[in-house]
Amino acid sequence: MKTRIKNILQEKPVGQLVSLGGWVRTKRDTGSFSFVEINDGSCLANLQIIADEKLGNYVSDIKQVSTGSSVMVEGTLQVSPAKGQDVEVHASCFRVIGKADPETYPLQKKRHSFEFLRELSHLRPRTNALGAVSRVRSRLSYAVHQFFQDRGFAQIHTPIMTTSDCEGAGEMFQVTTGQEKTKAEHFFGRPAGLTVSGQLQAEVYALALGDVYTFGPTFRAENSNTSRHLSEFWMVEPEMAFCDLQGNMELGTEIIKYLLQDALTHCPEDMQLFDKFIEKGLLQKLENIVQKDFVHIAYTEAVERLQNAPKKFDYPVKWGLDLQSEHERYLSEDVFQCPIIVTDYPASIKPFYMRVNDDRKTVAAMDILVPGIGEIIGGSQREERYDVLEARMIEAGINLADYTWYLDLRRYGSVPHSGFGLGFERLVQLVTGMANIREVIAFPRTPGSAPC
Ligand code: ATP
Ligand code: MN
Repeated sequence: MKTRIKNILQEKPVGQLVSLGGWVRTKRDTGSFSFVEINDGSCLANLQIIADEKLGNYVSDIKQVSTGSSVMVEGTLQVSPAKGQDVEVHASCFRVIGKADPETYPLQKKRHSFEFLRELSHLRPRTNALGAVSRVRSRLSYAVHQFFQDRGFAQIHTPIMTTSDCEGAGEMFQVTTGQEKTKAEHFFGRPAGLTVSGQLQAEVYALALGDVYTFGPTFRAENSNTSRHLSEFWMVEPEMAFCDLQGNMELGTEIIKYLLQDALTHCPEDMQLFDKFIEKGLLQKLENIVQKDFVHIAYTEAVERLQNAPKKFDYPVKWGLDLQSEHERYLSEDVFQCPIIVTDYPASIKPFYMRVNDDRKTVAAMDILVPGIGEIIGGSQREERYDVLEARMIEAGINLADYTWYLDLRRYGSVPHSGFGLGFERLVQLVTGMANIREVIAFPRTPGSAPC
C-alpha cells in the first residue's frame, strides 16, 4: 500500500516499512550511497531517501536519476541523524519509473519567476509555491461548503450556459454551435452566453429554500488585463430570503473571517511558506483581519475621504463615479488598514436588481474591500417591490418579456432578500499573498492566453 509523505511525517512510524511514490527534487551522491529528496505533492516537505550501492539497480538506475524523475520507493523509516528532518527512508527497493532529461527539464533547482512558470502551467504545480497554493485553494473550497452547509444553506447548481445576462455585469461570451444558418437562429431559441453570475437563478431558489448558495465558474469577456481579473473565475454566491443589507454584511464579514481562520488552522506549513517568501507579515495581517471589526462607510463619505486625500489618483473621484481599484486600496490600506464595507452606492452605477433606498439616489449595495486587493465581495439587498423593480428594468432598457420569471418572484410571495458574490480567486490571493491572480487558479484564462 502506498503511503503519502504527509502521513509519514505526521505519524512517523519509525522502524516500519513504508512504500511511496514521488518526484525527485534533488539528489546528492556520496561514496557508496545517494541521498534523494522526493516530493509527492501531499505536503510541502520532501522526504529524504537513502539509497545504498548494495541495491541491484544502484549504478544502472539510481545514480542516473535526476530532478523531475518519478520514483517508487520501499524502505524502513529511520530517525535521521542529519539536520533539517526528523526521519528518512532507508530504501530496500528504489525503482525509477519515468526519467526526466536533465538537459531539457525546465524546473531546475533555482527559483523561477512566476512569469516564467506561467508558460509552464503543466509543470508549475511541481514547484513549492504553486503546490502550496493548490493545496490551500483546495482546502478553502472545502471550507466554503462547510461554512454554508453548517449554517443550513442549500447548494444550488446554477446554469453555466444562460440566456439572462444578469445586470450586464460584464460582457458575455456567446454560446453558439457555429452551425446556425442565419443570425436569427439560436440553439436555445434565443441568444445564450456563458454565465457572468448565478445570482438571478439563486434568487429563485432563495425564495423557495430560504438560504442558498452557488459556487461555480463564471465568465467575463471583458478586456481587462490586470492582476485581479480573469476571463474565467470562480464565484461564491449566497442568497438569503428574509434578509436585509445588515444581515448581508454580517454574512460577508463572517465568511471572510471564517475562511482566513480555516487556512491558518489547517494549512500551517504552506502558510509559513507564503509568509516567508511571498508576502512578509502575511500571517499577522490575516490574523488581524480575523480579529478586528470591519469598518463600515457609506459611498458618499468614502468619496469625501478620497477627495480630501493627500494623494494623487490616476482616475477622477466624484460623486456618481464608480470607485477604482486605486481608490479601494487607498481606503482599505492607507486610511483604515483593515477590510472596509462600502454601502449605498449611487443607483446609476449599480445594476437594476439592487434595492432603491429612500433617498431614491442610492441603492442598498455593499462592497467589501480588503488591503492589497480592493473589492473582494460585491453584494446588495435585492429590489423586492414589483413596481420599483419594473421601473428600474425599463430604465435600464431590459426586455421585460425575457424576465417575466424574475418579475414573478415579486408578484408571488415576494420577500426582502439579499446576497453577494465573493470572488474565489481574490480570496485565494488574500490568503496566499500572491500578487497576481494568474498564480491562484490552475489554468488561467485571460485575454490572449489559455495555453492548456
Ligand atoms: P471589479 O470592479 O473588480 O472588476 P466587479 O464589480 O465587476 O469587479 P462583480 O460583478 O461585483 O465584480 O463580481 C463579484 C465579485 O467577483 C467581485 O467582488 C470580485 O471578487 C469577483 N470578480 C469580478 N470580476 C472578476 C474577474 N474578472 N476575475 C476574477 N474575479 C472577479
Ligand atoms: Mn462589484
